[in-house]
Amino acid sequence: MTRSADLPSARLLIVGPQGSGKGTQGVRVGEALSIPVISTGDVFRANVSAGTPLGQQVKAIIEAGDLVPDSLTSEIVRDRLTQDDASNGFLLDGYPRNLGQVGDLDAFLESRSEALDAVIELSVPREESIARLTQRALEQGRTDDTEEVIANRLAIYERETAPILDVYRERGIVDAIDGVGSLDEIADRITAALAARGITG
Ligand code: AMP
Repeated sequence: MTRSADLPSARLLIVGPQGSGKGTQGVRVGEALSIPVISTGDVFRANVSAGTPLGQQVKAIIEAGDLVPDSLTSEIVRDRLTQDDASNGFLLDGYPRNLGQVGDLDAFLESRSEALDAVIELSVPREESIARLTQRALEQGRTDDTEEVIANRLAIYERETAPILDVYRERGIVDAIDGVGSLDEIADRITAALAARGITG
């Protein structure tokens, strides 16, 4: 999917704790705005499943719920953002995940005279995140959805990822969205927030 250059750019992030529904909502936003959704977690999982050298390198890290090194992650994202379909917009899901990655992404976008247009912050109470992740573990059997690994991932989110929102809030580009409700209700909230910034499909 490529966003037409006639439309305002839509360079977006979706940020929220694991189990906030950001993957599901991200796909909807991507479809509505004709932008590719780039999920670093999906890229890593696909490589692990396919047994590529990258997959072998990151398998144990993902299974522990730890973060893959910034240099490796940022290089993957830069390569992906350089592809044509991301030229006028993209939605990053799961990246940046810490302040180092924010710096990497800023440097990349600045080198192209580009900038982020909006950051969607999806909020859900911690108990709700845990309940949703536990449900997903039952349904999908992800190796990183065990109770211990979930706790590690949520702790990393709170310690390393939540602070990135302060940086983007200072830039005035964060839209805080209540992530509790039906999928349609949440999608409508996101659409309205983006439309208020002039970002429409
Ligand atoms: P996710 O599906 O976004 O929860 O990602 C699954 C796992 O992939 C994470 O627990 C990390 O091990 C790894 N991962 C995904 N995105 C990143 C990132 N931006 N930086 C470092 N590791 C990541």
